[in-house]
Amino acid sequence: EAKRQRDAVPQLFSPELEQEREARLTLERELRHAIDNGELRLHLQPQVDADRHVIGAEALVRWQHPARGFVSPGEFIPLAEESGLILPLGSWVLQEGCRLLGEWRRRSEFSDLKLSLNVSVRQFQQPDFVDQVLTAIYRHSAAPGSLTLELTESLLLKDPEGTIEKMLLLRRIGVSFALDDFGTGYSSMVYLKALPLDTLKIDIAFVRDLSHDTQSTPIAAAIVALAQSLELGVIAEGVETETQRAVLAGLGCHQYQGYLFGRPLPVEEFHPTPVAQREAPPAA
Ligand code: C2E
Ligand code: MG
Ligand code: MG
Ligand code: MG
Repeated sequence: EAKRQRDAVPQLFSPELEQEREARLTLERELRHAIDNGELRLHLQPQVDADRHVIGAEALVRWQHPARGFVSPGEFIPLAEESGLILPLGSWVLQEGCRLLGEWRRRSEFSDLKLSLNVSVRQFQQPDFVDQVLTAIYRHSAAPGSLTLELTESLLLKDPEGTIEKMLLLRRIGVSFALDDFGTGYSSMVYLKALPLDTLKIDIAFVRDLSHDTQSTPIAAAIVALAQSLELGVIAEGVETETQRAVLAGLGCHQYQGYLFGRPLPVEEFHPTPVAQREAPPAA
């Protein structure tokens, strides 16, 4: 399919386009290598409640390229989606996430935390997606009730019935679902109501400009009200300032994720105590 997409591009013999194409192919080859050779890592970003207690974390994939250094997911996730590499990448994230949940289950400070994994549309639409999740859960003895899958609105455009069916199967064993980047895609309100969701995630785009000025709040307010009337949880992403947190709390949103509470950290450095509140280490 990736080949068909490339062939569909008008054949313009511009050196810039040719270079761009070469660069993409190189990156694609390197990403394939990265997936097979353990160059990917999960970082965890805390999710907190009104009392700033850590209630969970979102796993965000990182690529440490041996020569280029850190490559941002904003760069390689779209490439992975176009090339189909999102399938092996997504399986790796699922395995790694469930392995972590298996570990957490045996460590009391972590055993109540939820872990959210991002699932791309193509990954979710594989006919055996439900089996893949079940297999990963059982292999690592993960607690299914601690797993949240983050989906995006674009799934609803493609195959709402199939989506609902898969969600119901996974929900039956306790897996939760959050709708990521809510408000930036094309949600049909009809399907939104039919979807067995647990949580809406308010996109950073609606959090960024929040101030005490009431003109900044209409969209965030509408999303919170929508979540409440659908009896869903709501969490805001990209919360960077105390003002944003306070405005969100005023609107009725009491779960947050963002730099105010913690940046994504390597798994080994992630701890359920918020970094800002942890005691400073004794002076050496
Ligand atoms: P997302 O799922 O919406 O993740 C939230 C993004 O916002 C992350 O970017 C996170 O680092 C960033 N972020 C969190 N708090 C703040 C904040 O306070 N301010 C700002 N400016 N940004 C904040 P990241 O890690 O670069 O990931 C970008 C996107 O890549 C994710 O957006 C997600 O769509 C995708 N992605 C990441 N990991 C995976 C994965 O394992 N699988 C799939 N399919 N997609 C992934
Ligand atoms: Mg996400
Ligand atoms: Mg998001
Ligand atoms: Mg986002």
